Amino acid sequence: MKPQNLPGHPHFSYRDNALFCEEIRLSDLAQTHGTPLFVYSKNAMLAALASYQRGFVGRQVQICYAMKANPALGVIQVFAEAGCGFDIVSGGDMDRVLAAGGEADKIIFSGVGKTRAEMRRALQAGIGCFNVESEAELDVLNEVALSLGSRAPVSIRVNPNVDPQTHPYISTGLKDSKFGVAHERVLPTYRRAATLAGIRVLGIDCHIGSQITQEGPYLDAVERMLDLVEAIEAAGVPLQHIDFGGGLGIDYHGETPPDAERLWQTLLARLDARGFGQRQLMIEPGRSLVGNAGVCLSEVLYLKPGEQKNFCIIDAAMNDLPRPAMYQAYHQIVPLSPRPEAPGKYDVVGPICESGDWIGHDRALALLAGDRLAVLSAGAYCMSMASNYNSRGRAAEILVNGAQADVIRQRETMAQQMQGERLVGSRSS
Ligand SMILES: *Cc1c(COP(=O)(O)O)cnc(C)c1O
Repeated sequence: MKPQNLPGHPHFSYRDNALFCEEIRLSDLAQTHGTPLFVYSKNAMLAALASYQRGFVGRQVQICYAMKANPALGVIQVFAEAGCGFDIVSGGDMDRVLAAGGEADKIIFSGVGKTRAEMRRALQAGIGCFNVESEAELDVLNEVALSLGSRAPVSIRVNPNVDPQTHPYISTGLKDSKFGVAHERVLPTYRRAATLAGIRVLGIDCHIGSQITQEGPYLDAVERMLDLVEAIEAAGVPLQHIDFGGGLGIDYHGETPPDAERLWQTLLARLDARGFGQRQLMIEPGRSLVGNAGVCLSEVLYLKPGEQKNFCIIDAAMNDLPRPAMYQAYHQIVPLSPRPEAPGKYDVVGPICESGDWIGHDRALALLAGDRLAVLSAGAYCMSMASNYNSRGRAAEILVNGAQADVIRQRETMAQQMQGERLVGSRSS
């Protein structure tokens, strides 16, 4: 039988009624490594990156993978080997990039709450740029840099006040957001930055939100950013680079975000029209590079028919897949081996003692206990937000490349979970 691609997931396909990731049968991985299990397609990640690269042909661009989407060392390694830089949001993120072979000078450090210790370590490591999010942070960074006898490379994250039309929790570029420097404070902040001996002004930066599925908010942000660049440079502060952040959405459930190549061709036409087409550019995509490259495999533990609802209880839960509970997010759920019987309707839920522990509502599935499922679009903001709630160990992760499947994270054991804990009065310290 001809392989049948999953729409929107070209590196996942059914062959002879079995779901594959690239050349690997997913039920084989579940059998060998147990469930819940995250499986990522390396070639899906590289294809997503290639779409950005095609959009930027002939331009000067540094693509910085926003690693909070998926910080596994094996995933960082894929992007480091492909020449990417990294957008980090903590000192721990930096340690991960360096451990996975990323280059320090291609790291940009975002986030509203960088500590002095994080700034010091990042300066010592020689990172490429700090994306400074407030005037208070600028002063502290200046002090820290002076104390080390260095100058911190900086871009100011500005808040362009555009509505990305996404979920409020992942919209970051509106006036009342905690992120970035307010539009009217941008010019004074640059003027001041230019006078500080511990600061070297490099660029300007914005990030308007996440899971953005339309072109409009980006076009608005580009125009506002270029207005600001003109005003800042007219005030005598030259800027080397413009960083447009990340945020491009993916298809979870029929969304139709522009593909990266097309979006950037449109945006670059605007930059060209205003004479900025040959500037050094930076972008910080996260979700759109990894989201649809990953699935989470799970096993059906029990079917629990009811008067109002039928529940399908699986061995993955909100600690593995936090997006439904956190953002009411939709993830497609498909069987690894579809059954021919007529489907029933199920709420797919995890074992955690919370009514919020659901993975999908009212899903049409033909199932028996012991069947295995794949929760799709699980490459971004799933493992990175996983927790130990209910003393559940974090899942294992596998990276597939063609017919090769490598464990990039072992399943977390109870010993590892309890490692740093002590009983009161115990003598071992
Ligand atoms: C989260 C984040 C990104 C990546 O967002 P995606 O929606 O995953 O592309 C980029 N830049 C900054 C500053 C972020 O906080």
